Amino acid sequence: MAYDSNNVFAKILRGEIPSVKIYEDDKTLAFMDIMPSIDGHCLVIPKEAAEGILDLSPDGAAALIKTTQKVARAVKTAFNAPGIMLLQLNGEAAGQTVPHIHFHILPRQAGLDLKLHGKPMENPDKLRGFADKIKAALD
Ligand code: AMP
Repeated sequence: MAYDSNNVFAKILRGEIPSVKIYEDDKTLAFMDIMPSIDGHCLVIPKEAAEGILDLSPDGAAALIKTTQKVARAVKTAFNAPGIMLLQLNGEAAGQTVPHIHFHILPRQAGLDLKLHGKPMENPDKLRGFADKIKAALD
């Protein structure tokens, strides 16, 4: 399927809608998930226009996983998380709701249950507080 340049993450990349940013470089952007499954839930996207892992260039994939690792380390420190869950869905049939490839980063504590979708919108000030904590833990 052709890439839809009106998807919400493409709009975030173009600065047309706001996001609570954690990290940015020339190829990637990390920001807080607006409807978090858990405190500290954040997303990493490439700047390259690609819907899923099958469309992304090898160079884009390398940049995406590099930033995901960097931010995941910071999330682990910031939330003192014994576990880090990465999630990456490709296609509606897999549960993907935003058609611009992204990794979810979720700090996990033992036995904690979480819901992936259908969550309420989080307070932006709370998200900014979490983003500041993660930024402070970046290498
Ligand atoms: P997926 O189901 O893997 O496509 O995940 C999309 C994620 O994007 C969900 O966890 C949503 O909560 C999140 N999301 C949707 N819109 C925004 C937005 N404007 N800013 C931040 N996160 C968003």
